[in-house]
Amino acid sequence: MSLIIYFLVIDNFLKECDITDMLVKYQSYLEKLNSDLDTYFSEQQEFIKCKKGCSICCKSSYYPVSELEHEYIKIGFKEKLSEGQQEEVRQKTLQIMRDRREFLVNNSNIFDFSYECPFLLDNSCSIYEYRALLCRSHGLIYKDVDKANKLNFPYCVKLGHNYADIWDSEKNTISIEKMKALDMKVNPEIFDLSYSTMMNDAEGVEFGDVRMLFEWIILDIPNYEELIAPKETVV
Ligand code: SF4
Repeated sequence: MSLIIYFLVIDNFLKECDITDMLVKYQSYLEKLNSDLDTYFSEQQEFIKCKKGCSICCKSSYYPVSELEHEYIKIGFKEKLSEGQQEEVRQKTLQIMRDRREFLVNNSNIFDFSYECPFLLDNSCSIYEYRALLCRSHGLIYKDVDKANKLNFPYCVKLGHNYADIWDSEKNTISIEKMKALDMKVNPEIFDLSYSTMMNDAEGVEFGDVRMLFEWIILDIPNYEELIAPKETVV
């Protein structure tokens, strides 16, 4: 039995839509989103430590991705990666599937399992222009409307990176005292960039089901169940 899970299901299934048409609409939405995000990151630069070669945020998460985002990622996968790199991504994905199977032996919460993104090659995103929505907005603070009262700081705040200078770690909020002490020139903004908000903002775009990124990739490996099957031990 496949371990694939659905953890968020959007009402309209992509299979019923014209994927090519959806990809055109999605691309046009991405142009607007990218332009907005450029502005946000630039306005917040006092708090942002993102730089080339830093890939902390791609090393441990579960990366929710919709069917449409995955269709777009597949274009980048074919265009940007050599045959060898494509195989490397597939092998990493198979290993993640094996690791999750092991993990679930002693852990019942599937969302406690995190993994390094298989598209991270040589410490950089191999499909950067085609990356998912959450990969684009990651790094800013946002109010997470998908979770109750959750102010979402970027993962790297705990490691002393984005917004760490003004973070109250105990209360998981912005520290006014730290801001005053540092005499910051701009205020930290809390953006409306939850996953569901970004999808709702994409007018006329149907995203389809949402799964963990590696679950989409593995579906494109025809004999994956055979490849991850536990090896029989000879007694
Ligand atoms: S797709 Fe690219 S940006 Fe997104 S998590 Fe993977 S390596 Fe990082």
